[in-house]
Amino acid sequence: MNLAAYAVSKDNSEEKFFQRKFAEAPTSTRHRQELQRDRDRIVHSRAFRRLEYKTQVFVNYLGDNFRTRLTHSIEVSQISRTVANALGLNEDLVETLGLAHDLGHTPFGHAGERKLNALLKDFGGFEHNKQTLRIVEKLEERYPQYAGLNLTYITRLGLQKHDQLPHNMGHSLEAMTVDTCDEIAYNNHDIDDGIESGLLTLDVMQQSPLWKKFWGKTVQEFPLTKQKIQVRYTVRNIINFMINELVTNSLYNLEKYNINTFADVIAFPMKTAQLIDYNKSTKEQVTLLKKILHKNLYRHRDIESMNRHAGRVVERLYLYFLKHSYQLPQEYQARIEKDSKERVVADFVAGMTDRYALAWNERVDNPAQAVLPLEF
Ligand code: MG
Repeated sequence: MNLAAYAVSKDNSEEKFFQRKFAEAPTSTRHRQELQRDRDRIVHSRAFRRLEYKTQVFVNYLGDNFRTRLTHSIEVSQISRTVANALGLNEDLVETLGLAHDLGHTPFGHAGERKLNALLKDFGGFEHNKQTLRIVEKLEERYPQYAGLNLTYITRLGLQKHDQLPHNMGHSLEAMTVDTCDEIAYNNHDIDDGIESGLLTLDVMQQSPLWKKFWGKTVQEFPLTKQKIQVRYTVRNIINFMINELVTNSLYNLEKYNINTFADVIAFPMKTAQLIDYNKSTKEQVTLLKKILHKNLYRHRDIESMNRHAGRVVERLYLYFLKHSYQLPQEYQARIEKDSKERVVADFVAGMTDRYALAWNERVDNPAQAVLPLEF
């Protein structure tokens, strides 16, 4: 890997960024660096495997072709690696952050998160980024010596939102990259899934100049191709366009703001500018595209009715386990003394996959049968 001086690397960044909370012997395989070790810990975690059955936009049981949190995370990771490579950033770190960034999501996507946040408003609230951190620092149980995954400091920093970072510290360029590539991934795959589902129409998409331009090119170039392939090809070209725009303008920003070293990066006040960002006109086009998706897809009545149902299920399970906490798995019950009961129940419900939550929702109707927790 050819790393720029502003990248996270053992050569450019202070030792403390590679440290773990609990000191460990250097990796035993000799073939892995510390940040690769972090990535592998994410991939081997239970929370990561559960992403397969968690909603991105379309509830998992609606069809096997739609994105799930897992495939979304893989796309984010992959797009981030491309951008990182082009900018000379640390690919291992962006890969890890991409794979891990959504670990804290509840079942049924944002609808579940909103409901848990409301239910926990007097107990610290619920926010998926914070939950991601909680999972990797506390809830994953894999090692005899400590709770959590004992990730390096720089990886844990990258999983936090900007306003959750220590005072006067900015994000690494790697974390900013993953944040923007998260958007590239979901804007594009939501167009793809939205059109595939029939909720989003080609007519509506014409309101986006960005879509209109690339769709026009596709149809002109391949007028006789099946429409589904034309859609996919257009989405693919928009992803390429966004990546190219992002790389070009970010390099320009790094130069403009005189960012030469990793120390420059984390000292850079984010309110001055976003370093990893599009130029003004592209940003406007992307913002408009997001608005169109919001209005026509995320706010679509079919999605909203799914979301309302999801909210009811989450609320019901939360209240049920608060009352019947003896039905929580043993390791959760054991934490009730240390954390509040509300937090422990939120951890349990948030960790559920969609289908596991729905299975419990059925069981709640017949508590006599709900003696044992389902395998979890
Ligand atoms: Mg995401």
